[in-house]
Amino acid sequence: MPTPPSSRKAAPIRIAVIGAGVVGLSVALELRSRGAEVAVYDRGLELGAGVTIRSAGMLGVAFDWAAEGDDRSLAALARHAGMLWPDYAARVERLGGGSVELSSAGSLVVARTDAEAEWLEGLTAACQARGLPGHTLTRSALEAREPAITGKVRSALLLPEDQQVDPALLLQRLGAALARAGVGLRFGRHVEGIVGGQVFQMPDGDRFDRLVLATGVQAAPAFVGPRGAPLALGLPAPIPVKGQMLALAPSGQTPRHVIHTRDIYIAPKSRWVLVGASVERGRADTEVDPAVVAGFRKRGAELVGALAEAPELSAWAGIRPGSPDDAPLIGETAIPGVIAALGHYRNGVLLAPATAEIVADQIIDGKVSPLAGAFAPGRFDKGGEAPHSPSSSGLDN
Ligand SMILES: Cc1cc2nc3c(=O)[nH]c(=O)nc-3n(C[C@H](O)[C@H](O)[C@H](O)COP(=O)(O)OP(=O)(O)OC[C@H]3O[C@@H](n4cnc5c(N)ncnc54)[C@H](O)[C@@H]3O)c2cc1C
Repeated sequence: MPTPPSSRKAAPIRIAVIGAGVVGLSVALELRSRGAEVAVYDRGLELGAGVTIRSAGMLGVAFDWAAEGDDRSLAALARHAGMLWPDYAARVERLGGGSVELSSAGSLVVARTDAEAEWLEGLTAACQARGLPGHTLTRSALEAREPAITGKVRSALLLPEDQQVDPALLLQRLGAALARAGVGLRFGRHVEGIVGGQVFQMPDGDRFDRLVLATGVQAAPAFVGPRGAPLALGLPAPIPVKGQMLALAPSGQTPRHVIHTRDIYIAPKSRWVLVGASVERGRADTEVDPAVVAGFRKRGAELVGALAEAPELSAWAGIRPGSPDDAPLIGETAIPGVIAALGHYRNGVLLAPATAEIVADQIIDGKVSPLAGAFAPGRFDKGGEAPHSPSSSGLDN
């Protein structure tokens, strides 16, 4: 007997996510949990083909936004993301069957010279002005909190809202969570051309109602209409920003916190201690410069003595997906039904759960979150100044 129309269930919306980095996987998980049928395409043969696995996994809610620029919409998005993280990590761990090593110990910012102390005062004031909690630590409080610091420190600030995870574990757990939720992870699929229209046809012939572009620093695929005419996404080209990193074996007294100086950070994980990172705008090569890496060790060891002799486990370079104004592009592109989740630059790990929420709100619920307005991908088309201003190159995440 035919089912009466009122009780017939609507077919789930079919969505393809292109890119299996932290952004694409987080978006896929959120879309799936809201009932969509989701497939993830990646050109790599396994997880970790992009920059996510090369990152430090810091969830720098306070440090990045107090230290850099005055972009309040990005700072608000970052803080929102930071608040999502504990629940998000717990969910990924539950569904993915293991830890992502979320640490909520906060980060420490230390100053060693007069000039750095002045910089740290400015940072403390910026935190206060933005309502970001930050506690100045006395010498004895710093010693008690972080005995691994052996170098002379003039002043120190604790940023309790900063967190960190292990990005490789995060990718692994996300992959397991998606597989368990029935999301197909299609590796070895470099998506170069897509036919658009009412539905989108992928190179493997499968058709989807919506597409999410999470291709990181790689150029987005080309789109053509049903008759072969090119369709423009209206997106700026991604800007590569190279970052070099050193990984040392944990040995002796290793830090409990992420520690920032003006020049470097030290991000301790259970399997290694990361010291980084360079910020080389416009560079897309992954060559490691021994002098840069030696500089990380020297500056790290000046602060944390145990790093002087710690065996080097690895050193690498990754390419951050920058945008013309260093803010992400999240929302519908000029092709209806194609959603960008791009340009996360130095904060893709931090921002991933917030990006996933925004994308799912838009696709599944048809609403644009107030936090998302400033990140519309079409903002560069308007002729006027983009609402965000790029930060300068130098050292850090
Ligand atoms: C040294 C360094 C330190 C960093 N530290 C931090 C940090 O502490 N905290 C933080 O939040 N961020 C940090 N970042 C930035 C962070 O790594 C990025 O913002 C984030 O990983 C971007 O994630 P993504 O998913 O957009 O890109 P990716 O991880 O690069 O994923 C994109 C995926 O898309 C795939 N792809 C691309 N094009 C196609 C195509 N046409 N077809 C199929 N697949 C395709 C790629 O294979 C890749 O797997 C750091 C970056 C560097 C380099």
